[in-house]
Amino acid sequence: MGIIIEEKSMARFCVFLGSREGRDPQYLADAQRLGDTLARRGHTLVYGGARIGMMGALADSTLEAGGEVIGVMPDHLVDREQAHLGLTELIRVRNMHERKASMAAHADAFIMLPGGIGTLEEFFEAWTWHYLGLHDKPIGVLDSEGFYAPLLSFLDNTVEQGFLNAHTRAELLDATDPLELLDILEAQLARPR
Ligand code: AMP
Repeated sequence: MGIIIEEKSMARFCVFLGSREGRDPQYLADAQRLGDTLARRGHTLVYGGARIGMMGALADSTLEAGGEVIGVMPDHLVDREQAHLGLTELIRVRNMHERKASMAAHADAFIMLPGGIGTLEEFFEAWTWHYLGLHDKPIGVLDSEGFYAPLLSFLDNTVEQGFLNAHTRAELLDATDPLELLDILEAQLARPR
C-alpha cells in the first residue's frame, strides 16, 4: 500500500484582528491556535505589527511555533500599539493607507478574527477590493464563539434587500474553528484561478 503525502503549498495569510483581547478568553485562544497552525503548516503571517491584544497573541503563537511573521505599522502607531520588536520583519509605513496597501501586497489570502472598528475597516476594504476585481485573494471570517454571527446575518439580509449580490456574499468564507477556516482557505488557494 502506498503512502499518500498531501502536499500543501505555503501561503501568506493577512490577518485582521483586535488590538484588544476581548471579553471571552476563547477569542484569544482561537487566535493562538490559528497562529500555531499557520506556522506548523509552513505559512507566513502578515498582520498589523502590534504587540498588544489579539494581534500580539497571534504573532507570538506563530513565532513560538517557528513561523515567519511580517508586521506592517505606520510610524505614528509604533508607540501607541507597541510595535512587536521580535518579528521576522517589521515594515514601517507612513500612514494607514500605506499600511493596508502593504499588508494586501504581501498577502495571498485574508482572514478576519474578532476585533473592533479598525479590524472591520481593514477587512471590508480587502473584501470590497475583491468585489471590484482589484484582486482575487480568498477571504475568510473566523466566527469565534459566534462573535460574527450578527454580521453574517446582516450580510444575508443585505442580499435579501437587494444591496449585495448573492455571488459576492458567497465569496466570504466562514468557519467557527480556526483549523477548519484554514482548510477552507487552503482549498480555495489550491484551485486553479
Ligand atoms: P481594532 O479592531 O479597532 O482594535 O483595530 C485593529 C487594528 O486595525 C489596529 O492595529 C488599528 O490601528 C488598525 N486600523 C484601524 N483603522 C485602520 C485603517 N483605516 N487602516 C489601517 N489600519 C487600521
